[in-house]
Amino acid sequence: MSKADAPPLIGAPLVDSHCHVVFAEFQDDLDAVARRWRGQGVRALVHACVTPEEIPAIRQLADRFPELRYAVGLHPLEAGCWHGAMPDLFLEACRRDERVVAVGELGLDLYKATNLKQQVNALEAQLDVAWEVDLPVIIHCRQAAMPLRDILVARRQAGRPVRGVMHCWAGTPQEMDWFLELGFIISFSGIVTFKNAKAVHACAQQVPEDRYMVETDCPFLAPTPHRGQRNEPAFVAHVAEAMAALRHCSTGRVRQVSSQTAARLFGLESLVQESPSIEEQLFVPPVSATNTADAL
Ligand SMILES: [Zn+2]
Repeated sequence: MSKADAPPLIGAPLVDSHCHVVFAEFQDDLDAVARRWRGQGVRALVHACVTPEEIPAIRQLADRFPELRYAVGLHPLEAGCWHGAMPDLFLEACRRDERVVAVGELGLDLYKATNLKQQVNALEAQLDVAWEVDLPVIIHCRQAAMPLRDILVARRQAGRPVRGVMHCWAGTPQEMDWFLELGFIISFSGIVTFKNAKAVHACAQQVPEDRYMVETDCPFLAPTPHRGQRNEPAFVAHVAEAMAALRHCSTGRVRQVSSQTAARLFGLESLVQESPSIEEQLFVPPVSATNTADAL
């Protein structure tokens, strides 16, 4: 048994750095979903925000699940809904609840849309919000690495830099280096478990140990061996296993360093350092390292 095949360490924490459990896909069985993420050692979750209308429901989820923190923002594919009152709305949401740990998801998506000007407008205004409240940003970037880099470099030059994460990383190693150089964290999703995702595998191998996190982006992008099904936070364990296999280290190591990075970026130290929950201590994980390794 090689180091990479070692079973996950019970008690080594995991953070799902990006999820959407507010979606209707979870309305019937969220308590069971939560039991499974606790059983897998997921100590903290960061909930992303697609539109401001979701914020009250996400806040209620944070009341219901104490390990849930959240972001507020507008997704680039919703940029058509942007209006001038949104910055104040986001500022207010950030200031009224300390469980708001980021602004996002914001960014650029030129894969599914062409309204670049609208997207840039919504993006710049939200980067201003993040700068003003000094919170990290959660960036969604699809087929738009170059224009996004230009915007982030310009902000740095203007003395208004932002920090944050490139979520659901799907770019090339060269693009990854641009964002690492800008100080960003790279977050790997279920894509890293897909056999054909060669560029993402190369990124997973090259990213510095203290600069990556893991996420599900659930309900989307379920990792192998659940590909095609509804994704859920517990499956972030498969993402960690795939990272370990690619980086030739133990899954426990991936859990530890990715959780520490998430804790540092989002201020989750108190959640990540807590001792294991009862569910976690009693749970026998069904995730086997061999499944994921076979898929790679
Ligand atoms: Zn998302």
